Amino acid sequence: MKPGILYIVATPIGHLGDMTARAIETLRAVDIIAAEDTRHSQPLLRHFGIQKPLVSLHEHNEREKSIDLIEEIKQGKNLALISDAGTPLISDPGYHLVRLATRADLQVVPIPGPSALIAALSVSGLPTDRFQFEGFLSAKASERRRQLEDLVNANRTLVFYESPHRIIATLTDMLTVFGSVREAVIARELTKAFETVQHGNLERLLRFVEDSPNQQRGEFVILIAGMPEKPSHPGLSLEAERVLKILLSALSHKEAVSLAAKITGVRKQILYDYALSLK
Ligand code: SAM
Repeated sequence: MKPGILYIVATPIGHLGDMTARAIETLRAVDIIAAEDTRHSQPLLRHFGIQKPLVSLHEHNEREKSIDLIEEIKQGKNLALISDAGTPLISDPGYHLVRLATRADLQVVPIPGPSALIAALSVSGLPTDRFQFEGFLSAKASERRRQLEDLVNANRTLVFYESPHRIIATLTDMLTVFGSVREAVIARELTKAFETVQHGNLERLLRFVEDSPNQQRGEFVILIAGMPEKPSHPGLSLEAERVLKILLSALSHKEAVSLAAKITGVRKQILYDYALSLK
């Protein structure tokens, strides 16, 4: 028995016009469609006149369900995997299925299309030659801070996904950890009616979102510029160096260090040592 093929099919992240011709063709041709939430995907499939047996594959059943689906493919069935939006496996289910398929030497074919991270990166104006996708940060405040602290010296563009109910908390933590002057971008509701791409430093962006309840709704990609070079002292950031130098030109040592710590989130002792080294 010739095995079937597993297709990983990207679907729109908002605008239905972004469904590719190949995605429609593939979904019309396969035997089964595995969807993250079958009820959610039904309107999309109906819109494109696609009527196929649907099975659900979500984060809670993915491990067991993937085993059954691999058996179906081995029996000759062609299967397409879609998620609620965008590219499956990108902060979405599908990893276990693809892993099992590749281990079983089954053919896995990508049907590429939209993904919020690439769409956001492409309009961010931040460096795109290298970037680091972090997906969703932890919902727990202490863990989220720790995750951000680990990234503070990353020298490439950082890309995060965030939901509306945590956008302010996350931006607040980012401001605390990365400091107010770090350049960032918020890409909200991409391809949808209320698409907004806002550029600025983290302080300005947080204020922008806080000031408008509408800007707290919808789906978000947050991008933060990476550190271009290594700071001269461990624990220090280039921004902190820059901020401290400006403040030292106008204030006393103590005042400058204290203000720089507040602005950049870098520890006072580190700033103090750096200030001494500049003398
Ligand atoms: N698989 C999807 C992809 O390829 O982008 C991502 C799925 S993940 C569960 C959903 C998150 O993606 C949202 O919380 C948001 O951070 C981001 N996202 C999805 N659609 C978006 C859009 N239209 N505009 C901005 N962000 C979006």
